[in-house]
Amino acid sequence: MAYTNSPLVSYTGLSPNHSGQRTHSIDRITPHCVVGQLSARTICECFPAGREASCNYGIGTDGAVSLCVEEKNRSWCSSSSANDQRAITIECASDKAEPYAMNSAVYATLIKLCTDIGKRNSKKKLLWFADKDKALNYSPKSDEMVLTVHRWFANKSCPGDWLYARLGDLAAKVTAALGGGSQTSGLQASEFLSLNETQAAAKIGELCRTDMKSSGILASVSAAQFIQESGYGKSELAQNANNCFGMKCSLSGNTWSGSSWDGKSKYTKQTQEDDGNGNLYTITADFRKYPKVEDSIADHSAYLLGAMNGSKKRYDGLKGCTDYKKAIQIIKDGGYAADTQYVNRICALIEKYKLTQYDAAATEQATTWYRVRKTWADSKSQKGAFHVLEYAKNCADENAGYSVFDESGKAIYTGSAGFSPYLVRVAIKDLNIRRGPGTNYGRTGQYTGVGTFTIVGESEGQGSPVGWGKLKSGAGWISLEYCQRV
Ligand SMILES: [Zn+2]
Repeated sequence: MAYTNSPLVSYTGLSPNHSGQRTHSIDRITPHCVVGQLSARTICECFPAGREASCNYGIGTDGAVSLCVEEKNRSWCSSSSANDQRAITIECASDKAEPYAMNSAVYATLIKLCTDIGKRNSKKKLLWFADKDKALNYSPKSDEMVLTVHRWFANKSCPGDWLYARLGDLAAKVTAALGGGSQTSGLQASEFLSLNETQAAAKIGELCRTDMKSSGILASVSAAQFIQESGYGKSELAQNANNCFGMKCSLSGNTWSGSSWDGKSKYTKQTQEDDGNGNLYTITADFRKYPKVEDSIADHSAYLLGAMNGSKKRYDGLKGCTDYKKAIQIIKDGGYAADTQYVNRICALIEKYKLTQYDAAATEQATTWYRVRKTWADSKSQKGAFHVLEYAKNCADENAGYSVFDESGKAIYTGSAGFSPYLVRVAIKDLNIRRGPGTNYGRTGQYTGVGTFTIVGESEGQGSPVGWGKLKSGAGWISLEYCQRV
């Protein structure tokens, strides 16, 4: 394949310091910190004859790009011939001391440049393993590139802790831009790294406010649990798995409906347990890994609402509870945390950051009533009226022949118990199956394929003007827009 150079380059100052044409095709990118807030041109000027160092590209402090060594040639950058034979090396303007911070213009250009390198070299994914052995032993597929770092090859900090902490974010953004990922839009926990505790608490409060609108669980309580269990979104588990509540893969054998976890992605780490008397001990455990922070919050809420203890709801009474002290006591009493100080810690966080402000707006939202009846006209058949749509749907599911009606009397959901199943024909190969009725629910990663399928429930939902259908197989929901009733 012919090598090219980036069209993003605004200054070219070719250095004589290189080994000629590379002996390995490009399948790595190695970003460096140049240790100084230099311009793109000055970065090139760092590598005159005799200096024994160079890089393929430089990114100046204003975000401009320079070319020092053409992509076809092996630069002298990462203290490893094997790495530089296959890597594009990029020196980025940075501060002069740890964490060698880069400004937002430099970081934005780094995302653009890595995306451009991927596009021109027919790559769809940029991978970050955060593990030297894994990364260096990995054989990239033909459409993959792997991020590597100078610190793996020499006793130095490069690219500095600032960029090192963002490499997962960089890989996700570049992969998304290349269209190569299951990377969904949504928040990556890496965004918490640049926030102080007050800023992080505000961001977490907003996320939980959104969750409260669908789950009905107090945002103040969810937000305080999030902060407590993820260290303001900065814990190892949050950073590597977007898991902000320490949710293990297996939770006392419990399963619950509406989980946003795919059932297999995991992150293994050591963790400290409390024996109930305040004594800590260490175990190794598998934790759930999510594509985005929102999924972690949704799964935590689904767990609190759906987890069972024998035939009883484990956190009975939490649903609809509007007193945060009561709510957190229910959670503690249900056996959520062994930490004897748990209730006090959560209440202190709610008070410190005034997290109840995120409850208020959601409570206002909740003035809509969802009524469960046989028909709108038959008001005597009403089984219940709910502020939270999810509960109304559950009620309709439990009662044959019942539907959920909005305030205008329109049926917005028909319970699966009373639903007459019907067959549909799907003519496209790539119809996504989602975990719930709407594009706001995650994809399961499966497609229906072309064929005939049985629909056992219907619902309105985001992204499909004609509604969503529940598959009999239990695999999930599909947009009825792409279905022909047969
Ligand atoms: Zn370096």
